[in-house]
Amino acid sequence: MENKIEAERIERLIKIGSIFESIGVTSVELAENIKEHIESCPGGKACLEKLISKQNIENC
Ligand SMILES: [Zn+2]
Repeated sequence: MENKIEAERIERLIKIGSIFESIGVTSVELAENIKEHIESCPGGKACLEKLISKQNIENC
């Protein structure tokens, strides 16, 4: 039962990762940087697009 739950979680995380990869979040480092930035930035969608295109967390 626990293995099934874990397998389902892994499958879900892979799907989520795949979606983010498809919009340009292609490394774990970039994903972590974006997470840290978003937690303190009110800029919304435009902010996210800039972060992805610049591959870093400089001011946007
Ligand atoms: Zn921002």
